[in-house]
Amino acid sequence: MRASEATNHYFQRAAKQLGLGSRIETVLMTPRREVKVEIVVELDNGELGVFKGFRVQHDNSRGPMKGGLRFHHEVDPDEVNSLASLMTWKTAVANIPYGGAKGGVSCDPSKLSHSELQKVTRAFVDEIHDIIGPGLDIPAPDMGSNSQTMAWIVDQYSKYHGWTPAVVTGKPIELGGSEGREQATGQGLFFTAEAVLADHKMDIKETTFAIQGFGNVGSWTAHFIHQAGGKIVAISDLSGAIHNKDGIDIDALMRYSREQGSIKGFGGAESIAAENLLLTQCDVLIPAALGNVITGENVKDIRAKIIIEGANGPTTPDADEYLIKRNVPIVPDIFANAGGVIVSYFEWVQNVQQFRWRLDRVNQELKLLMLDAYGEIKALAKSNECDLRTAAFLLGISRVARATALRGLENESFCMVNGPH
Ligand code: NAD
Repeated sequence: MRASEATNHYFQRAAKQLGLGSRIETVLMTPRREVKVEIVVELDNGELGVFKGFRVQHDNSRGPMKGGLRFHHEVDPDEVNSLASLMTWKTAVANIPYGGAKGGVSCDPSKLSHSELQKVTRAFVDEIHDIIGPGLDIPAPDMGSNSQTMAWIVDQYSKYHGWTPAVVTGKPIELGGSEGREQATGQGLFFTAEAVLADHKMDIKETTFAIQGFGNVGSWTAHFIHQAGGKIVAISDLSGAIHNKDGIDIDALMRYSREQGSIKGFGGAESIAAENLLLTQCDVLIPAALGNVITGENVKDIRAKIIIEGANGPTTPDADEYLIKRNVPIVPDIFANAGGVIVSYFEWVQNVQQFRWRLDRVNQELKLLMLDAYGEIKALAKSNECDLRTAAFLLGISRVARATALRGLENESFCMVNGPH
């Protein structure tokens, strides 16, 4: 299934409940701007390298647009469009003053030298510097880009506009990055898991977890759950999956994976078939690697009692419908993995204020925003008798619709929609 089909499906399901009408639906579905540029740089061997760069700016009714920059050899415009709109709903659900965007450069970073990557990044900024900025659109790292990429963007952008660290987030600490940004998505997922378990009167120390993915999101989520006494019985990464019914020692696995480059061969667990990870007997399943992994094909064999989405778009709509019918709560990506963009917001706030927060303040504020959003989603799910994903979309869409109306960007009466405030 194409990424945009799933996003559209979830959007339409909530929009129908809100009774938005086709006019405003069209406004909210359509990206405000799609920019494509050619990047030409001299490669190390003297030849010219030509790459395509793009930025999809989906919505800015609630504030400047926010979203990652991918450096990948196969940038799929359909997926990027869909991810840009997901960012709009995610920032609205988290109630941070942003819209949504996404972009990238079609290149294979593993085939470019450090200096070639730097040239590509700077040339991209040369092309788009007038459409990004702290009050316009604030990129961040995504697949294939990192804090170094953000540092080059700050430097190049600042040549045009003066010193402006707030143009991107996910920067190195030395250039205005925030404490806690690296682990933020995992930290937010952990706060989510704590709140969901409390609702189900489950003690984390008696709860078993399976996590797909051991990269940034999966490993930090596992770390915080392990630290709180939760038992992680199965983990996977690109190299395969491992299982230990007595719980995996996550600190040891993190050290092993850092040294070896993957979890393959870790001594403290037995290896299992990668496809069985999602089917593991556990209380909580956390997909934290790829999209479209819980599908109509495997959903009937999933044994977890609760699913918390760490990855973007891990559940296809048919699997989603099936799990709803079976009363398996799914905590949706647009809320559960919002910790990263929330701490990006804190980074931007610190840059604008020229004031640095300590880690404990970052985590305290992150927890407050996550719990506020969770409380609102639950209340909407109850009042609308719907699942958590539909409730999250109701919350996000109604906030964006109301801001759009209040700004006079569309003159329909949908500002009176019966949605949440
Ligand atoms: P990452 O590249 O750091 O890690 C990805 C992990 O998934 C790696 O461990 C990789 O080995 C594993 N993986 C890849 N293919 C796999 C497969 N077929 N089976 C099992 N594991 C596989 O990426 P990340 O930043 O951790 O992001 C993971 C997901 O979370 C993505 O969907 C991303 O869009 C989403 N996300 C990330 C953030 C963030 O702050 N990093 C925020 C929100 C959402």
